[in-house]
Amino acid sequence: MMSIPDSGPWRLTDATVPIGMVAPPVAAKLGLKPTQDGCYRLILDIDGDGDIEAIWPTGGAPETQSTTVRAGNAHVWTRMADLHTHIDKSQTWARAPNRDGTFNGAKEAAKADRTAPWSREDATARMEFALKCALAHGTRSIRTHLDSQKGRTQPTWEAFADLRDSWAGRIALQPCASLGAAKLMDGYGEEVAALTAQYGGVLGPVLYPGPEAAAQVRRAFDLAERHDLPIDFHTDENLDPDSSGLSLIAEEAIRRRWQGSIVCGHCCSLSLKPADEAQRVADRVAEAGIGVVALPMTNIYLLGREATSTPVYRGLAPIHLLRAAGVAVAFGSDNCRDAFHPYGDHDLVEVFRETARIGHADMSWGPWADAVAAVPDRLIGLQETNSLKPGAAADLVIFRGRSFSEVFSRLGAPRIIVVKGRALSEAEATPPAFSELDGLSGLAPAE
Ligand SMILES: [Zn+2]
Repeated sequence: MMSIPDSGPWRLTDATVPIGMVAPPVAAKLGLKPTQDGCYRLILDIDGDGDIEAIWPTGGAPETQSTTVRAGNAHVWTRMADLHTHIDKSQTWARAPNRDGTFNGAKEAAKADRTAPWSREDATARMEFALKCALAHGTRSIRTHLDSQKGRTQPTWEAFADLRDSWAGRIALQPCASLGAAKLMDGYGEEVAALTAQYGGVLGPVLYPGPEAAAQVRRAFDLAERHDLPIDFHTDENLDPDSSGLSLIAEEAIRRRWQGSIVCGHCCSLSLKPADEAQRVADRVAEAGIGVVALPMTNIYLLGREATSTPVYRGLAPIHLLRAAGVAVAFGSDNCRDAFHPYGDHDLVEVFRETARIGHADMSWGPWADAVAAVPDRLIGLQETNSLKPGAAADLVIFRGRSFSEVFSRLGAPRIIVVKGRALSEAEATPPAFSELDGLSGLAPAE
């Protein structure tokens, strides 16, 4: 394994970097030519403060006195950003499994897991476990939905705020108040919006189809306006072609000339609408400036599940249509080892691979790499966008694989995670052992 210097400036040569992770003006200025995979071959100079000092095309750099580290054409990515997670529910599968694998089964199991409120110790330990996984895999920003129904906000929000402080400098964290949009309609809506503002968070209504949806969307915008909050809707997480939450949200945002940040997660039903209608919706979403986050791993688990048949429709947002219409499209983890999705390790490389497989983003791997990095990082808005450019922090993931096929075929291969120019220790760059959680109620494996 290559070794990254602990101090002083250094140079990384023979790095294969996806197009979507290099700032476009840098690529234009250097006249970079992509490989077949959609990557550039680059040399990065990193200064003693851990920032990128200069970027050169392979073969085009002046000599240097700095320590030189050779990547051997290995993939080098920017550290990534996860726009849609639920770290509060992470790792609860063992005690709250989904008995029938459906969306309703997941909701029932999650509710039962909260009949006795989580202890602060339980919430903290599982959230921190999720952060350790994410850090080891190369994530640097996370927005997480936190269950925020009446009586359920604490101890989660307080535990989250402590973790946000103690993890600053490793992962930037943003909370999002998650609850059914109907629950915002009465006085509790004001209460939860005020709490969200107090913690510097995002309002996260879960919008279900129905005659009340339009009024719920208006209410969410009213609250966001009054409390100056970004909004992040769970939208059309179903396979009903008539489900039109995304359209309602786009029209409301356009009507209000909304300037604040809006993200819509899931958007599955759009994939089942007639082509001309889907195109019209995508155009309006672009006009409204709404970012869409596709969450394929959870959706292929939950949607299209019938006990007696093999699923055909799996619920991926139409990522190509949306992107072609000019919509900012991100890929996110969503649920991880809970009743909504029993798998996952907070690994955006896995998310990218699965989206590439399911959504055929593999015809343009390199350009799509911004969907797990620059696009979600910009929508989260906590850090300067993570595209490679001089002056940006050297926040890197160095793989062993030299092509997308090699990287995606061996996800378990060790990665070097560089935070502000320095490599994480081997312990920090290794995901935590599941046995770390065995002391928590209901999480040890059955005897
Ligand atoms: Zn979600």
